[in-house]
Amino acid sequence: MGDQELYSGLIRLHVLYHASQQPVYGFWLMNELSRHGYRIGPGTLYPLLHRMERRGYLLRRGAAGGRGRRTYVITRAGRKALAAAKVKVRELYEELFEDEAGGKDGHEHVREHGREHVRERPRVLPYAAAPLRYRISIR
Ligand SMILES: [Zn+2]
Repeated sequence: MGDQELYSGLIRLHVLYHASQQPVYGFWLMNELSRHGYRIGPGTLYPLLHRMERRGYLLRRGAAGGRGRRTYVITRAGRKALAAAKVKVRELYEELFEDEAGGKDGHEHVREHGREHVRERPRVLPYAAAPLRYRISIR
């Protein structure tokens, strides 16, 4: 898959999201990710799952005796991380699609506390001057 680096965070969020819905296992995740257009093999997925486990986002439920499939469930920390990531995904989504959503007229639609507002677009994007608040590391 080209542009893998660009998508690695999205893949992790898919994994985290699905693990929040039900226990997941590798083969199922590979299918699900390919449904979304991410072709990811076991050599990439399993190390990714292990890293997410080490980071405390996922908990592995190993099959006793080493047989059967290992499933992963989301942890409390994983749920917190997912909730925080959703806010950022929404923000990114809105920015990526704001032109298509009719934001060209100098107004933008803002969702705050679950309510949508229309506000005048600031001349200078606040991000431009502000220091980078979030350090993003991909691995
Ligand atoms: Zn999915």
